[in-house]
Amino acid sequence: MTLVIEIDDPPEADMPTLVVVLESDIDEALVIRVQEQFAAVASRHLVCRVAAHEVIIGEGGPLLAEHVRSLPGVAAALLPGDGAPLARRDLVSGRTVVDLGNGVRIGDGSLTVIAGPCAVETTAGLRAIALGVRARGAAALRGGAYKPRTSPYSFQGLGDAGLHLLQNVSRETGLPVVTEAVDVASVPQVARYAHMLQVGTRNAQNFALLRAVGATGRPVLLKRGFGCTIDEWLQAAEYVLRQGNGSVVLCERGIRSYEPSTRFTLDLSAVPMVKHLSHLPVVVDPSHGTGLRNLVTPMALAAAAAGADGLLLDVHHDARTARCDAKQAITLEEFGALMNQLSRVMPALGRSLARREPAIAVRVAADQQHRERVSV
Ligand code: PEP
Ligand code: MN
Repeated sequence: MTLVIEIDDPPEADMPTLVVVLESDIDEALVIRVQEQFAAVASRHLVCRVAAHEVIIGEGGPLLAEHVRSLPGVAAALLPGDGAPLARRDLVSGRTVVDLGNGVRIGDGSLTVIAGPCAVETTAGLRAIALGVRARGAAALRGGAYKPRTSPYSFQGLGDAGLHLLQNVSRETGLPVVTEAVDVASVPQVARYAHMLQVGTRNAQNFALLRAVGATGRPVLLKRGFGCTIDEWLQAAEYVLRQGNGSVVLCERGIRSYEPSTRFTLDLSAVPMVKHLSHLPVVVDPSHGTGLRNLVTPMALAAAAAGADGLLLDVHHDARTARCDAKQAITLEEFGALMNQLSRVMPALGRSLARREPAIAVRVAADQQHRERVSV
């Protein structure tokens, strides 16, 4: 869990920043000792957990850096010129495991499946999807209340009403909710309802938004910009981490190439590359990455084989009528078949599927819904 200490006012973007990485699993007394050095020179600072380390980020210059470096327990004290020292593995050891609550974690070695509609549409529809994916073993629910749409004439999402629906369904199913914040103004409201805030591909370098979601302390799902290199993606993550928020999950969702037969080109080589460069978990979104329903299952299996920590999937109870991205939504039945395949594939890869046994209440509700559907 991220620990943010006395931080009314997170560091400004342009202040000189001293990043102090403490040795892994250090004694709390030593953390306090380093903090005191910042306090002695009246510098603002915050403490956060990044992978296996406590990290102190604060205002400071070369003198403070040199002094702090000589203290016991300090692994590194640097005044980064640029780059992504907190997102990369050069200074930080261990791996980040992000806790969404309700017993769901991303990055613990298992495959965590987040599934749901592209956009929240109706109460009944969202409920049918949430119960359906829960019954088939999804660990968390996705669904956009605020939608970033290429055309201003496309369905823009239900906004606050969508957040309420997500909250109700989350309470009923126990599934943590992942939903997008499309701008700085909506961040506090989205953070009130979401277990994890999504930053979309079109906002991947919206630095004000990255700072704002970082400052909430909530887990953040950071999509790769479809025109971003891996380095730019890690630097975007650095904006979130620098706010004292170590709970960042990266999401590969396809990049633009010259190939028109798929919506984007899913860069699965990014998965092992990012896992080599960074301690952050990486999930794959084969729905947006391909834009085509029949490619979702094969690319989801390939993502698992490439080492992804999780999957983000567009699933809809009536996929062909989805108001957003209908061509890429898979049905509940297709989702169930994929989960069955994953439950066989993951052990062969030496990993497990973070599959949750459906609670009895959920199973009963799903059966009842099924009966209702069959009888109409
Ligand atoms: C989404 O996941 O709902 C979404 C809009 O994805 P992306 O930002 O990757 O297009
Ligand atoms: Mn979508």
